[in-house]
Amino acid sequence: MTDKKPNKSNNRPSTPHRASQGNRDFRKRTQRNERPESASPARTVPVHANTGGQAGIFLKEGREKSLQRRHPWIFSGGIERIDGAPASGDTVPVRDANGQFLAWAAYNASSQITARLWSLREDEIIDADFFRRKISLAIAARAGLNLDRDSTGMRLIHAESDGLPGLIVDQYGDVIVMQIGSAGPERWRETIADILQELRSPVCIYERSDSDSRALEGLELRNGVLRGELPSAVEVIENGLRFGVDVADGQKTGFYLDQRDNRALTETLADGCDVLNCFCYTGGFSLYALRGGAKSVLSIDASGEALEIAAQNLNRNGLDADRAEWQDADVFAALRKLRDQGRTFDLIILDPPKFAPTAAFAEKAARGYKDINLLGFKLLRPGGLLFTYSCSGGISEELFQKIIAGAALDAGVDAQIIHHLHASADHPVLLSFPEGAYLKGLVLRVAG
Ligand code: SAH
Repeated sequence: MTDKKPNKSNNRPSTPHRASQGNRDFRKRTQRNERPESASPARTVPVHANTGGQAGIFLKEGREKSLQRRHPWIFSGGIERIDGAPASGDTVPVRDANGQFLAWAAYNASSQITARLWSLREDEIIDADFFRRKISLAIAARAGLNLDRDSTGMRLIHAESDGLPGLIVDQYGDVIVMQIGSAGPERWRETIADILQELRSPVCIYERSDSDSRALEGLELRNGVLRGELPSAVEVIENGLRFGVDVADGQKTGFYLDQRDNRALTETLADGCDVLNCFCYTGGFSLYALRGGAKSVLSIDASGEALEIAAQNLNRNGLDADRAEWQDADVFAALRKLRDQGRTFDLIILDPPKFAPTAAFAEKAARGYKDINLLGFKLLRPGGLLFTYSCSGGISEELFQKIIAGAALDAGVDAQIIHHLHASADHPVLLSFPEGAYLKGLVLRVAG
């Protein structure tokens, strides 16, 4: 869902920074039983009138269990037949082998995940009111978390975990970035944009629907303004630190909001340390470490664009450039070089991109994690701290800990876990969707 990509996307349309003016009259399109304007003409499957009949998806015998446990994905392998020739994005009823109603879901003909859950209530109408309710609930839930103290960035909608599969919405000051990853929200994108405009009044809603995973869903890549105009510079304040956000070309939606709390923890432990920040992107952990009194911070990333913004971020916050060194390099090679040079550090951060998007990649990913962590342990001084992360959905917390234990063993160090870390509270994990817990981290202290 929230992949970290080594390279920026280059899928920008030719004039991305201005919204088309055609879709602005909100009221016209919020009446009950309306169809979104991107929907195609009448279909055999009733989309919003919940008369279902025999239309929709029929599951194989016994395959209703996952939906009954409220897991939001309906895989192609569990489907007996599909009646009514729905189109991708249509809302279809999902039924058990006996024809009993189980759920309303968004159909996608092109995906292994054939449908994603909208609602388990048969009387629920999936229309603009449904989305307004869901979006309002997600926003209200965050308002109670006190996340906006000294911060202007927040994940407003965290896809499946907020009951809106395939929809990510991040806010940076008065700019909103929306990322659509599946056919359901793709169908409703204009309605969703209108609701966000109504509820948050941003100066711009920018769409970053250009992650590689869209190809798996049979969706075209899209990158451009949906509402308003993109300001020439976008900035987010996080715990009082200012960061430039490249909304149009940066990674993900431009910034890694999920590490907010973990960065703050780093700050509290960095005083007097020589710090190594690997996969630094725009310098998040580096700036916190500097503000926390680090003696020096060496930051490494393979993206020149990200490092440019990182250096600007340093100035933005009036932090001491003499203590900061930026290196444009491949971390795997850079760690070996540092080892060969005999360099050592008091605090090392390893926050690599997603090595394993799914469990199928776990083995290869495990080798990558082990490699960098082994090198990380070797570069740590006695008593030093390793902040190590995985944002791979395909690597469980348990497996990650095992990999790190193997790395410490091979490095010949004793280490203790002093913190188990996760994404910030605006990235909640639905209990029935453990896949939502993609970010896991450990803080380890090697023996002194
Ligand atoms: N810690 C960052 C987020 C890291 S995202 C933050 O708090 O904002 C992962 C980063 O790894 C990206 O910036 C990407 O450019 C970088 N990256 C990916 N592969 C890399 C490699 N092999 N060597 C160095 N950097 C890499």
